[in-house]
Amino acid sequence: MRMSNSDTVLAALDGELGWLRETYTQLHRRPELSLEEHETSKLVEERLTTFGYSVTRVGGTGVVGVLANGEGPTVLARADMDALPVTEATGLAYSSELDGVMHACGHDVHITALLGAAKLMADGRGAWAGTYIALFQPAEEVGAGSKAMVDDGLVTKVPRPDVALAQHVMPLPAGTVATTAGPVLSAGDSLKITVHGKGAHGSMPHMSVDPVVLASSIVLRLQTVVSRETKPGDFAVVTVGALNAGAKSNIIPDRATLLLNIRTYDNQVRSTVLAAIERIVKGECITAGSPQEPEFEYYDQFPLTSNDEAVTDHVTSAFRAHFGADAVHPAGRQTASEDFSRIPDAFGVPYTFWLLGGVEPSVYQAAVTKGTVAQDIPANHSPFFAPVIDPTLSMGVQAHVVAALSYLTKEAQP
Ligand code: ZN
Ligand code: ZN
Repeated sequence: MRMSNSDTVLAALDGELGWLRETYTQLHRRPELSLEEHETSKLVEERLTTFGYSVTRVGGTGVVGVLANGEGPTVLARADMDALPVTEATGLAYSSELDGVMHACGHDVHITALLGAAKLMADGRGAWAGTYIALFQPAEEVGAGSKAMVDDGLVTKVPRPDVALAQHVMPLPAGTVATTAGPVLSAGDSLKITVHGKGAHGSMPHMSVDPVVLASSIVLRLQTVVSRETKPGDFAVVTVGALNAGAKSNIIPDRATLLLNIRTYDNQVRSTVLAAIERIVKGECITAGSPQEPEFEYYDQFPLTSNDEAVTDHVTSAFRAHFGADAVHPAGRQTASEDFSRIPDAFGVPYTFWLLGGVEPSVYQAAVTKGTVAQDIPANHSPFFAPVIDPTLSMGVQAHVVAALSYLTKEAQP
């Protein structure tokens, strides 16, 4: 029986797990916030250089390693590197050493898995042909890192890939991956709205334009965007996460601010929702007699992640062949968001983004049986989020290698 090229390359994986586990716990102990990934990117840069990659800095703390290995397609694989402003509560031996900073989204899993794949791809270069690009991106959590890399000329600094790949560890059983063609992660927009009123003494409401009342009617009216304006069945979320005005019971303030979060799976739906929000806010301001136009400030914007069908089918088949069909599940649509797609979109190339399980399978199964997955399994961004090291890291490395090698084939040597 002839071994597939991924079997050949992955034969060395067991020997790499020691340093991979060490690197993971080291990264987990020393998390760095978005755009501050200085030590992390230095570590990545050093490792990639040692593995034989030509390494370029792109977008501040972004690092790209390129391994040219003869004629053939080019595959780009991406990992994000930033941590979150969360204080770790897992009690793990390798917990974050920093108060208020934690790898609570598992980006340390992504970094480690891609470093492992990069090492195996380099050591196993006899088994494949083409170019492998390992890209480590800063600041995913604030939606700024992929944009920073693109703005810094990513497309002129590294070879154009034929396909781009990325993964995310999620509260799914470890030892499994999940894929979905089409929209997999929603577009996300945060919006700060400032509405203006006219301040007055609390006992003299007739002298005021009360922004508290104005903001309250905006919050209620915004509930009609999803229920009355988007088509039934078209996914959209409009959440008012913060509403701030005033400081004292007897003073009517002169302004109110609202912080909104909007999620959609379709750019047309997104435009409809954003236009409806702005229209409602402006309308309510006119109705209230607001003395000044409202202000809209968009931030933390995440593009839609819509997996290419052909690429996703191709990679899913490769996963099934390697991991077995039982270990490959449909991901379904997640309401989370990611900024990865800006990278393939900048090159104009197709991509697929898959999910990687990180929960001890017996724990996950017990929660499924009890119907308590949502309560018992800490999700990403929780201070209790703790992917199991084994087999999550190994699965993450294998998924990257298998997906890349499904494109970087080479005629088998006799
Ligand atoms: Zn996150
Ligand atoms: Zn994340």
